Amino acid sequence: MSDIRLKTVDEIELMRAAGRIVAEVLDGLETMMKPGVRLADLDRFAEEIIRGHGATPSFKGYPNAHDPDSPFPASICSSMNDVIVHGIPNGQILEEGDILGVDCGAILDGWHGDSARTYRVGQCGPEASALLRTTSEALDKGIAALEAGKPLGRVGHAIQQHAEANGYAVVREFVGHGVGRNLHEAPKVANFGSADSGPIVEVGLTIAIEPMVNVGTIHTKADPDGWTIRTADGSLSAHYEHTVAVTEAGPEILTLA
Ligand code: MG
Ligand code: MG
Repeated sequence: MSDIRLKTVDEIELMRAAGRIVAEVLDGLETMMKPGVRLADLDRFAEEIIRGHGATPSFKGYPNAHDPDSPFPASICSSMNDVIVHGIPNGQILEEGDILGVDCGAILDGWHGDSARTYRVGQCGPEASALLRTTSEALDKGIAALEAGKPLGRVGHAIQQHAEANGYAVVREFVGHGVGRNLHEAPKVANFGSADSGPIVEVGLTIAIEPMVNVGTIHTKADPDGWTIRTADGSLSAHYEHTVAVTEAGPEILTLA
């Protein structure tokens, strides 16, 4: 675990403050998920809340691993229907029955919070509703599996078991991560794999757990914009994420209001 940076109680308190801002954004967006709203409007709302707290959006300007000239241009990722993650909030308009994943990060006093959820726009069909429910439950089960003294692999194992038991596929190419002074740091937190894999969890570990669950294939494809990642078969995808700390009392979600 040498490259994993464990956090003190005081550092976790600072991360909780960043996490509260992210939660305020995601809670506030609930009321905006209506037909006719532009993705760019959601992004502006998010950025105003983040900067209003004296924080900075974690994602805006985040470097593109494949193209140094295309840093991420916005404060949220907005991932509609078959988009898994990293969708860019542009002029696209929400329509009745869409599902929209929103991922948000904020830096406050040098510490990041990172969280995502998938929203329904108006009334959604049973296929979408069941996918959202199962993916949210998978996140809960992953968090519950996080325990000091046990392998980190228990998290991904619990997520995969729940998703696959409900007939869904778990994305392999994108995974959760350590979080702290860096948005992405060690360790990787897969949403799949064996329960006895990975490093042993210690008190002070802070990670973003983020299941990405597809109705169809596990395979993905990227748009020409260099960011947007879709399901290869066009099936629906959902994404939920919390930043979680391992405390003496057990796992604690830091991205709550
Ligand atoms: Mg995120
Ligand atoms: Mg993340």
